[in-house]
Amino acid sequence: TRVRPSSKRCAVIGGSGFLGRHLVEKLLERGYSVAVFDIRQSYELPGVTFYQGDLCDKEALRPALKDVPLVFHCASPAPASDDRALFQRVNVQGTRTVIQACTELGVQKLVLTSSASVVYEGADIKNGTEDIPYAAKPMDYYTETKIKQEKLVLQACDKEGGLLTVAIRPHGIFGPRDPQLVPILVDTARRGKMKFIIGDGTNLVDFTFVENVVHGHILAAEHLRPESPLCGKPYHITNDEPIRF
Ligand code: NAD
Repeated sequence: TRVRPSSKRCAVIGGSGFLGRHLVEKLLERGYSVAVFDIRQSYELPGVTFYQGDLCDKEALRPALKDVPLVFHCASPAPASDDRALFQRVNVQGTRTVIQACTELGVQKLVLTSSASVVYEGADIKNGTEDIPYAAKPMDYYTETKIKQEKLVLQACDKEGGLLTVAIRPHGIFGPRDPQLVPILVDTARRGKMKFIIGDGTNLVDFTFVENVVHGHILAAEHLRPESPLCGKPYHITNDEPIRF
């Protein structure tokens, strides 16, 4: 007989990453047991079972998602890798595979980490709502695949007893163990290379503290029900005010 999945079980695809690990730690704090699926294992924690594999491989995903009602998908190749084939394979094809695996295994909820850049077209956005259409000309290929990925996940939302989906759109994320944003800024400044200004110095950019991003993911997961307005919707997530550079 099939074991009824406990509502406090979940899986985090990309749980070895910067955001993923913060999410895992908060989920443990809230009493969840967590399965992490990632191509690398970067830590060990009580309450976490690690499954190492490529999310493009459905057979590898299966054991991690089995008997799990809730899945977070926050895996992606690093934007800086600039590898088009890899972005397409992991973010688009791989996300299709994740959705198929969730559907086949009877997962109830899928929460995607998307990106606010899916609506960015070069002009500042202040107090932008989720009604802004996807960028017709995304700023780079990574973003192009994040748009395709988000569409796939949101379109997979099936309120009639199937998989429920929602997407969270942070922009820059900062916080403890951030591997890229702040370390690269500090390193560049130390080397005396922060002498370039793109634009006239008034461009807006948004950074969100990692714990707020995590909080947004967990709220979305816990409020996602067939009758809730969250179904199949994206949500921008930010701190209070954008920072002016
Ligand atoms: P990260 O690189 O720290 O973590 C990503 C994780 O995904 C890594 O552990 C990596 O091993 C894993 N991964 C990559 N390819 C995989 C594959 N094929 N199969 C299994 N695992 C794979 O990145 P992050 O900053 O934690 O980003 C997490 C998510 O948040 C991503 O979807 C990213 O697009 C999104 N995001 C990040 C930022 C930011 O500022 N960091 C901003 C907006 C959106």
